Amino acid sequence: MSEADAVIECDVLVVGGGPGGSTAATLLQQQGRRVVQLEKEHHPRFHIGESLLPANLPIFDALGVMDKVRAIGVLKLGADFPSSDGNYQTFHFARALGTTPPHAFQVKREELDAMLFAHARECGVDAREGVKVERVAMDGIGKVVAQARGSDGSAISVRAKYLVDASGRDTLLGSALQLKRKNAKHQSAAIFAHYTGVEARPGADAGNISIYNFAHGWCWFIPLRDGVTSVGCVCFPEHLKQRRGRNEEFLEATLQSMPDAFRRMANATMVSEVRVTGNYSYTCERMAGPGWVMVGDAFAFVDPVFSSGVYLAMHSGQKAAAMVGAILDAPARETVLQREFARRIQRGVRVFSWFIYRFNSPVMRHLFAHPGNQWQIEQGVISMLAGDVFDRKDVMQKLTIFKLIYACYGIGNLRRWLGEMIARRRRAHVAFSGGNTPVDPA
Ligand SMILES: Cc1cc2nc3c(=O)[nH]c(=O)nc-3n(C[C@H](O)[C@H](O)[C@H](O)COP(=O)(O)OP(=O)(O)OC[C@H]3O[C@@H](n4cnc5c(N)ncnc54)[C@H](O)[C@@H]3O)c2cc1C
Repeated sequence: MSEADAVIECDVLVVGGGPGGSTAATLLQQQGRRVVQLEKEHHPRFHIGESLLPANLPIFDALGVMDKVRAIGVLKLGADFPSSDGNYQTFHFARALGTTPPHAFQVKREELDAMLFAHARECGVDAREGVKVERVAMDGIGKVVAQARGSDGSAISVRAKYLVDASGRDTLLGSALQLKRKNAKHQSAAIFAHYTGVEARPGADAGNISIYNFAHGWCWFIPLRDGVTSVGCVCFPEHLKQRRGRNEEFLEATLQSMPDAFRRMANATMVSEVRVTGNYSYTCERMAGPGWVMVGDAFAFVDPVFSSGVYLAMHSGQKAAAMVGAILDAPARETVLQREFARRIQRGVRVFSWFIYRFNSPVMRHLFAHPGNQWQIEQGVISMLAGDVFDRKDVMQKLTIFKLIYACYGIGNLRRWLGEMIARRRRAHVAFSGGNTPVDPA
């Protein structure tokens, strides 16, 4: 290391300036720890993940940013899914069991992430942008050393007692420690863009997320500020790989295969580039070890259908901050605390995953299109949609009954569902007009 290299000492190094990292950094700083947070990009920077859950709101309160979120957000009262009569079915968060707030917000992520990062800095975090962590070495509590590089080429060395990896899909530790695994049960890729002029839902529901299904996946409409709507299609990677020509045409052709969605785009104008994300479903084999912990996407990401990503990142950031604080005060408890932390986060991921893996199945589409509230099962599902997946026994009981109903429906209608599924796949042919230019791999 040359004399010009900077060496920073701190209690906790947080890698990543997304929602997970800024949550952990702010809350650790509020405990009185010395926190350094490094973000490789410069805020504001584009990020996907615009629809939040009601369960996010208590975390915004804990951080002290609720008013700032309200100022940049669009009110989201619920989520709508296609119904059996060709219309749509709205699940309002106000009907959830328990105490989750009756609404959430839709946000432009560059605004949310920049605000959370700036707030961490205002709270006293040494939060630096344009600094990429290139290497980390951990040898237990008090023995973390990271080598980072600024966008101006400067080298920075950080010595910390603890490392929080919130590096998102870059999975800094997951890759370095070879813990990252492709999700064997689920594969998804996405293509998305921003539009103006998309028809909104009427009245108070104008800010709700809409979800549509098609044979190779599903699509989202997320209303954002300034009359912008985020529109994206999540598909099996094979579907995305067969695209030829321009991404704009592929996205439009895919949207055309959902007539109810496409009708809302009659007056729409694309106002962003079309972005493509390759298969992103993965998990790491461990989420913590001596002197380190992962939060948010740095540990796992499954699929965005229930808008759970930002919430899981912030929830794990919040719990990681409490855990790291407790470990720094009582290092001998590290193993026990890490085990509790990992069990909790994995439990939440599992609740969402069960629904995600089955979301495009005919059985699940049928149940979402014909909701029934016997034994408050529909309300239990709404609680899951609100992000209430950790603590409430009554919600878990309703979800267990839902799973039994799912199994019974599936078995009872096996031949019909299978026939329908095969027919839908045959029908789902996307026509292209953009020539035959090779495409970048999804
Ligand atoms: C197609 C798609 C749609 C989605 N839609 C939604 C949605 O509607 N709602 C929702 O809640 N979630 C959604 N998600 C998920 C959401 O994007 C993520 O779950 C969420 O951003 C995770 O937050 P995070 O803080 O863990 O990571 P990120 O938000 O990715 O933040 C990680 C940060 O770390 C930085 N970083 C990475 N490596 C380094 C390094 N070496 N050094 C320094 N900095 C580094 C990155 O630049 C980044 O800013 C979607 C995901 C996809 C793929």
